[in-house]
Amino acid sequence: MGIAAMRVPTIIALTFALPIAGKSAAEFVASPPPPQAPSHARKPDYLIDSHGRTIRDLRLSITDRCNFRCVYCMDPDFRYMPKQQLLSLEEYLRLVRVCLTLGISKLRITGGEPTLYPRLNDLVREVGRMSIDDVAITTNGSLFEKMPLQQWRTDGLHRVTFSLDSLRPERVQAITRTESTPAGVVRAIQLAREAGFDPIKVNAVVMRGVNDDEVADFADFAIEHGIDMRLIEFMPLDSSHAWDRSQVVNADEMLEKIRARHEVVAVADDDPSSTSMNFRFAAPKSQIQNPKSRLGIIAPVSRPFCGACSRLRITADGKIRPCLFSLSEWDIKPLLRDGKSSDSDLRDFIVNAVWTKQAGHGIGSKTFIQPSRTMSAIGG
Ligand code: SAM
Ligand code: SF4
Repeated sequence: MGIAAMRVPTIIALTFALPIAGKSAAEFVASPPPPQAPSHARKPDYLIDSHGRTIRDLRLSITDRCNFRCVYCMDPDFRYMPKQQLLSLEEYLRLVRVCLTLGISKLRITGGEPTLYPRLNDLVREVGRMSIDDVAITTNGSLFEKMPLQQWRTDGLHRVTFSLDSLRPERVQAITRTESTPAGVVRAIQLAREAGFDPIKVNAVVMRGVNDDEVADFADFAIEHGIDMRLIEFMPLDSSHAWDRSQVVNADEMLEKIRARHEVVAVADDDPSSTSMNFRFAAPKSQIQNPKSRLGIIAPVSRPFCGACSRLRITADGKIRPCLFSLSEWDIKPLLRDGKSSDSDLRDFIVNAVWTKQAGHGIGSKTFIQPSRTMSAIGG
């Protein structure tokens, strides 16, 4: 996919509700509950799958809406789920509370674009009261000027990750299909820093023929702004289903491009469940030294890290997705809305759903099937 092919007019977020792309509404109605997990999987503070992986990290998507249409994520004509299908604030909070009793210790608030969620401030305040070890948000940063960042920090949001896929304004506009600019994200980084967020991460999806000539520039950007820059391999989670292996710039290639300009040293991540390869910059090639600067390469396609996966995803419409690439998802909304299911019933449901987590994503296999949901409808 070249950048010319991606260029389309600015998109204004669609606010009407139709079935999500590639899937009719009927296909999302009343899925059966997950099969029973064995009794040894049911313990307090314990969430384990059938492959022995402990799940500690919840990714909660609080909206499928977005004001961007990134080429690797959402098509311009992408349709949102009807609002009544989405969970309420109280339902999100109930699920988070239940997950905490199962040993979840990290929460990432994501979407869609989470800053579009009208009750985000309430959500941050309430999860801040739950004493979760690590609460983070992933955002495109476009609405950051309007966000009560200081309040979020006080309320208990620990970390912010931004997305920025190019350092060139015209490319950012072509990739996001908006009028946004890298300067806007730099401003958002400054605001986040002033509010006390540290470290700050920035994600870039690297795609061949789109931004792969900027890999070393992203390293410069990390040094200049004292951030943790994450370069992500393009995954088959785009709504156009146009993903092709030839568009993936793999970790080795990224590293080679970086090493041509910078000396980098592998470091352990502060976060033990991190799935990225992490580096710090070393003299003498790096002219400017900023001790906070880091580089991470996230390589789910060329170096799958499924064996170490500790993640569970809940979508904005209440589907439990044990894996990004799950073809089955488990609908917990009927239990949330039937007026009789207890928290213990919800716990059982989640334990059963997690038990079904697949061993790996299988992107490399001939039988791989791309899920209907896009990254925006799953929660990245
Ligand atoms: N809207 C917010 C943002 O863009 O930061 C949060 C949601 S977005 C789905 C979360 C992350 O998923 C972003 O960093 C984005 O770059 C990444 N992402 C989306 N589609 C992807 C794909 N096909 N391959 C790899 N990463 C993807
Ligand atoms: Fe929106 Fe994030 Fe998807 Fe881009 S990656 S379209 S900002 S949800």
